[in-house]
Amino acid sequence: MDNNCFERAEILCVGTELLIGDIVNTNAAYLSRRLATLGIGVYRQAVVGDNPARLREDVTAALSRSDLVIMSGGLGPTYDDLTKETVAGVFGREMYMHTPSLARIESYFASTGRTMTENNKKQAMMPQGAVVFPNDYGTAPALALENEEGKVVVMLPGPPRELEPLFREQVEPYLKKRCAAILVSRNLHIVGMGESAVEAALPQELRDSKNPTVAPYCATGEVRLRVTARDADEAHATALCDRMVARLMSLPIGAYVYGINVPAPEHALVAELAARGLSVATAESCTGGLIAKKLTDVAGCSSVVAGGAVTYQTREKTRILGVDPALIEANTVVSAPVAEAMARGALVAFDADVAIATTGYAGPGGGTEESPVGTVFVAIADRHETVCHRFTLGAFRDRSYIREVSSVRAISEALAFLRKNPKNL
Ligand code: ATP
Repeated sequence: MDNNCFERAEILCVGTELLIGDIVNTNAAYLSRRLATLGIGVYRQAVVGDNPARLREDVTAALSRSDLVIMSGGLGPTYDDLTKETVAGVFGREMYMHTPSLARIESYFASTGRTMTENNKKQAMMPQGAVVFPNDYGTAPALALENEEGKVVVMLPGPPRELEPLFREQVEPYLKKRCAAILVSRNLHIVGMGESAVEAALPQELRDSKNPTVAPYCATGEVRLRVTARDADEAHATALCDRMVARLMSLPIGAYVYGINVPAPEHALVAELAARGLSVATAESCTGGLIAKKLTDVAGCSSVVAGGAVTYQTREKTRILGVDPALIEANTVVSAPVAEAMARGALVAFDADVAIATTGYAGPGGGTEESPVGTVFVAIADRHETVCHRFTLGAFRDRSYIREVSSVRAISEALAFLRKNPKNL
């Protein structure tokens, strides 16, 4: 990596409100995400209260380990806002009145018709040598301070609606200038294969590849393969990334990829159905309408979603979907034959091309020895074929988890079903 780039970063958020749990530290998550896209590794996140001695201790420790420290909070006008003064002390710098910042703060107060108090001027005081980032979203400017070894502390105001645009618009370009490496990544979304199967399907040289890296990880109801390339030149990193994606797509695993950098699978399912002029119906028991909800969350779904039924009680599976009571009696209501019959019944009831059905034990009560809580059958049917998948989502998971994962898996399986049958149904 280029010498100018930061090897290690730490995030230090200041505020007693954070420590006592009054507010959630969204700034740390935001900053970590943005630093990752810049190719800067974040090694620690910490929170410290509004206490000068501990703040000093933490800034000093962070600077001893890392070459970039990003801080949020404590830039306000009150006596307990100490970030700038403390960091200036650690760097051995005097504070001075930064007149352009003072002018901005004065005009901000004039434009809002509020009276500026003496302590607002504190927000325009800067340590000697600071790079000042004017704040268009509030009164406290952000700043960066660099020491003799080239280590940098960036200080940002706490409110996320100020911190986020300031970071994006001004701090990122400042860091990018110093940082030669840019990260570009693509997520391949896979359904129908588990995480370990995906890993096993990758040739060893791709698993070992350093640039781009290829890494599988598990998401709700799907597996993602993340391809990440790193280069000084963004266009080159993009080309490296895209070449690897093309290579992966040409492998057998490519058939299981339902999208690249796409939102949730329901978007892909609705798009696939629309492209093929097909309609879908749902027949849900344990998912209680979650599948229909997800499908109808997608704008423009009316051309493909025919309708759906929540057939929760056994008699409704018979009354609405025409499931034979003898079949239920012989197999129990949570079984593959019943899920399949529900899917076929939905095809007829809603005159659809494809149907998705679920029946399972979402818990916490219920379940049998053979099919404990967490057992869910998902059936997909078209006019020629019906398939059924059994998922065992674990008795220790809670009800909402089982229902959520079942609905995602059901949508993913419907997509896999369509992809395996590329001709029009
Ligand atoms: P101000 O100029 O508004 O006083 P500041 O830089 O002094 O800002 P703080 O006083 O520490 O920042 O925080 C102001 C507000 O910003 C908090 O009340 C909270 O709503 C929000 N905030 C601060 N830190 C965080 C954080 N890490 N994550 C999310 N929100 C935060």
